[in-house]
Amino acid sequence: MISVTKNHKEPPGILISDRCTRRIEQALVEKGKHELCRNCCGVRVRNALKELYHNKCAYCETDAGAGAVLRIEHYRPRKGIKGEYHSGYYWLTYEWSNLLPACEKCNSSKSNRFPLEPTGKRAAVPVLIEGKLSRADCLADSGVLRAEKPLMLHPEIDEPERDMIFLPDGTVRGRADRDWDRGKRTIEVCRLDRVELVLARKKVVDRFLARIRELLDDLVEQRGKKEFSRRFDRFLIKLLKAHEPHRPYSRLGWFMFQKFELFFVKQLGKKGQRVVRKAYESFRDRYKTSWK
Ligand SMILES: [Zn+2]
Repeated sequence: MISVTKNHKEPPGILISDRCTRRIEQALVEKGKHELCRNCCGVRVRNALKELYHNKCAYCETDAGAGAVLRIEHYRPRKGIKGEYHSGYYWLTYEWSNLLPACEKCNSSKSNRFPLEPTGKRAAVPVLIEGKLSRADCLADSGVLRAEKPLMLHPEIDEPERDMIFLPDGTVRGRADRDWDRGKRTIEVCRLDRVELVLARKKVVDRFLARIRELLDDLVEQRGKKEFSRRFDRFLIKLLKAHEPHRPYSRLGWFMFQKFELFFVKQLGKKGQRVVRKAYESFRDRYKTSWK
């Protein structure tokens, strides 16, 4: 999960059209029984979300090009809340800041779950002014919705980068092992530690590790140190690119580069460790790579 910039004040035209305004009014009457209008929340909105999220799932960062089908996910569920007597956030059914692209797996795992911190208070439908909603109260970062203290991270208003830690075996964990840790709960709710995701992330790590081993073998067998340094630099530039936001599992890319010792050096024999560590440190010194 990574931060994404979306202008909440400029939704796609369809979401502020007369037709959608009527649907919102309908939802206010029908509440949790309102059926989503597939014209309003359809292909145009999905395409706008896909573009902003580089065609990746907002939660697990799986690329839709790699087989994941992206759905329009309601961050705050529109029909009921799991484990509570609540009709859901039906008034946010067509709210741009409440819509995220999610793969089928994350979407169905999350379903209508939306846990809050123990001190958070579930929001009620905002007071209507002349029968209409105040959009300001519907924005995901509005005071009233933030006061709920959601445990689910929102890629457009939080910095999920601070709350999740990726490890060389493909697993992910929250910063703290307590129930109200936002990273931990988001991982649980969306099952970001499901086996196929862990394996997919591990595959990315293994591919880079295999390349390091190849380079080391070449160094021993035939090529000189100079050639090794040149090729290792090229490898690290490629590793840096794994962090670009359009890459699948790009947050893992950040960890692979920044925690290079843990991800790669420690997996090598003693001699390999010395050579690779030195080459990595030299690269960092020369390029002064500083990431947040
Ligand atoms: Zn996903």
